[in-house]
Amino acid sequence: MIAKDYSFTGKKVGILGLARSGLSAARLMLKAGAYPFVSDYSKSEEVIQNGYILNELSIPFEVGGHTPRLYQDQELIIISPGIPQKSPIVEEIKKHRPDLPLLSELEAAFYFNRGRIIAITGSNGKSTTVALTGKILADAGIKTFVGGNIGIPFSSFVQNTTPDCIVVLEISSFQLDNIINFYPWIAMILNLTPDHLNRYEDLEHYYSSKERIFMNQGNEDYLILNYDDPEIQARIKTAIPRTIYFSRLRSLNRGAFIDNDKIYIQLGEGSPEAVMGIHEPGLKGPHNLWNILAALTAATLVGVKVESAARTIQDFKGIEHRLENVGSIGQVKFINDSKATNVDSVYYALQSYKEKLVLILGGQDKGGDFSRLKPLIEKRVNSIILLGEASEKIAQILHRAAPIRFSRSMKEAVEMAYELAYPDRIVLLSPGCASFDMYRNFEERGKDFKNSVERLANKKVVEHV
Ligand code: ADP
Repeated sequence: MIAKDYSFTGKKVGILGLARSGLSAARLMLKAGAYPFVSDYSKSEEVIQNGYILNELSIPFEVGGHTPRLYQDQELIIISPGIPQKSPIVEEIKKHRPDLPLLSELEAAFYFNRGRIIAITGSNGKSTTVALTGKILADAGIKTFVGGNIGIPFSSFVQNTTPDCIVVLEISSFQLDNIINFYPWIAMILNLTPDHLNRYEDLEHYYSSKERIFMNQGNEDYLILNYDDPEIQARIKTAIPRTIYFSRLRSLNRGAFIDNDKIYIQLGEGSPEAVMGIHEPGLKGPHNLWNILAALTAATLVGVKVESAARTIQDFKGIEHRLENVGSIGQVKFINDSKATNVDSVYYALQSYKEKLVLILGGQDKGGDFSRLKPLIEKRVNSIILLGEASEKIAQILHRAAPIRFSRSMKEAVEMAYELAYPDRIVLLSPGCASFDMYRNFEERGKDFKNSVERLANKKVVEHV
């Protein structure tokens, strides 16, 4: 077992994964006086580039496969966030060295943290809520760091944290699988819906991973939960005394909620404070109201004034690849929701527009239940364009809900979608699948969509000239 005041100095540390998090964990370990060894099974461009950096730092590593060097002489292992519990290498380590502590990169960085942590997890909405919370705090003049799964590893900035700062972290269930002492001052679970069924044994394992976010919290800490989420309601009979709920569907005695189309917050004594009308925030869609309520609750606990939080909530338009308005060709509008990698996020994307939609779906299957989308597709979707590995599976489930066409590339999908959306519908890329069948990540898929739209727009201009 690792004590809370654990020191890494002089320790031999195996680091699993040489992407962004593995590299910054290695750097942190070096600075802490440990002896890191890094191992990655891939030989991707990023991994090779990071290998050059390790060379300069004289940190030993291996790429293109794992050998027992990763674990045989080490005193602990740090696991990068992308690596699931049931991956063969994690199982191999557990088999050969059952004594070795396995730490997520989050846990390893935590020992160096000096700020107060707001940790945000959930199946959907993490990045948006992390970015919004961070912006509300920073706009209010609070020294704020934003990181975690949002793309800035905690270990890359943890040594700059100070007791007066707030660290807002996006946390995945994989990171939580390997925590020992990690605890946030404020934990938040936005929602629990099916995801990652290809990487967890079952939903039970996935949900219980998420709940680890509050397992080490004490009496001074807070847990913010979504009152409207049936899974959260059913599962979390929490022992944390300072649990605060938010709700879009009913008014609460304490927490953030919506009543009569207005957002309210109530944390202390007195009557609830009206923040703004539900149509005023920059973020659109019913799901984003939950994200806003959650961010508002956390920021109010930090001490941000309602007026200041309200200004940021009005200004904040969201982040790239999440219901991002890409522009229009004539009256046809294009929306990039490439980050919608599970069925639940498509469900909310479909509810975010009044106009009829042409929906681009598909990618690498994550075990999602697409039949859940049927009623909404019948109501709102004019045609579906399928792209990627899961196309056949999706077609079998949704063929009665809307006309379906198959495409072979994003360029083709966008061109087909435009023809079907003409003259004035919306083209929505909200794939409901992972991107790894065709792309390195969802960002690359979203960029391909945006580039395809731009190329089509240029072509249309030329045709008109
Ligand atoms: P995460 O970091 O959890 O993946 P993002 O903020 O990146 O969450 O959003 C991922 C996808 O989920 C996007 O398609 C977004 O529109 C959708 N989404 C955002 N917030 C929610 C929510 N509260 N419930 C359901 N879907 C959401």
